Amino acid sequence: MESTLTERSTAEEHFRAILEHLGQDSYREGLKDTPKRYIAFLEEFLKPKSLNFTTFDAEGADEMVIQTNIPFYSLCEHHIAPFFGFANVAYIPDTRIVGLSKLARCVDLYANRLQNQERITTQIAERLQKELEPKGVAVTMKAQHLCMCMRGVKKHDTWTTTSKMLGAFKEDQKARSEFMAFISI
Ligand SMILES: [Zn+2]
Repeated sequence: MESTLTERSTAEEHFRAILEHLGQDSYREGLKDTPKRYIAFLEEFLKPKSLNFTTFDAEGADEMVIQTNIPFYSLCEHHIAPFFGFANVAYIPDTRIVGLSKLARCVDLYANRLQNQERITTQIAERLQKELEPKGVAVTMKAQHLCMCMRGVKKHDTWTTTSKMLGAFKEDQKARSEFMAFISI
């Protein structure tokens, strides 16, 4: 949904009020355009992305396809603080394969929202399952959450790992172990 100019300037003024509430002089040189920049940053980051999953005939490809260390950035929905890290995505084709860049794009599609890590992991896996109808999908995500590093428990070197396994990766220990051997978590 495109915001109107009035809605945007209202949002900017609300953010200026937050800066003032925090004791900041929001009209000093360094801050005077910050409300505008911050709203523009959020609009850009949260802009809904569309993703077209063009698939191709697998032509006999029936072994695991794995993409590792896909970097991602997200914003935690509880604190609007960044969390970021790496995702690993794998699937075992049945009859269809997908362009490799789509796996990384699928990570961004769900990461670039107000989110929690568990939900992104599930959404990526379920979307790939739906689009490719493969024999299985595995997704793991490893992230650092700034809301945990900078506030609250202040654990700056803690990494959180989440995973979602579907089909063969859930049912077949061999497929799961093969995937785990390929990724470094
Ligand atoms: Zn948080």
